[in-house]
Amino acid sequence: MSVIKYKAVFSEGSYHHRFGGNDWITPVCENCGDNYHQIASFDLNDPRLSYIYGICDKSFPIVSCVNCSSCWGDQLFKVDFEKKEIKLIGNTDNIHWVIEDEYRISVPIAEHSISFEELLYEDEYEGTLNDLGGDYFITAAGNPCFVMEADTVCPLCKGEMKYVATVCGDHVGILENEDFEIGETILYYMFCSECDVIKVIGQST
Ligand SMILES: [Zn+2]
Ligand SMILES: [Zn+2]
Repeated sequence: MSVIKYKAVFSEGSYHHRFGGNDWITPVCENCGDNYHQIASFDLNDPRLSYIYGICDKSFPIVSCVNCSSCWGDQLFKVDFEKKEIKLIGNTDNIHWVIEDEYRISVPIAEHSISFEELLYEDEYEGTLNDLGGDYFITAAGNPCFVMEADTVCPLCKGEMKYVATVCGDHVGILENEDFEIGETILYYMFCSECDVIKVIGQST
């Protein structure tokens, strides 16, 4: 069965999808002292993203600290879509590593328009893991294509969470004059629309 999947490209489309920006209130990271990065926000008016929360006039936040080991394991966030505020409710990090200043990614990340283009793969898993970080570094929809097995159960209601998106580093300079290099980490975004909880699963290749 073929699965529809999208890659984010840096162009203005019909919807208000953004890379970076700071219109969401994010928590302070206890490792590095900066606010969690708003990596992207998806416009849920886009019917291609209706699997997340239906079609509605809300934005969906893609957040994570990317300057420390906070993103190496699981991060759990409670989302208030009305106030556009995110609260941290869990983080499995026990390494407490912080990136050197010279490689630090600024908070907030400069905002850019993105739009989504369809990806067609014979083999979604192999195709995604080959092209992620090279051809693109944000995908939405389809399947998560985990590197390792992952726990995708909502810790609040114990229901299965929906897969939303994947983010990795920009290893080839897709973004000109700006760095979004986060090493070998791949971030998988899961969402429970019953609890408004986002789980970010960090894995490494
Ligand atoms: Zn941090
Ligand atoms: Zn739940």
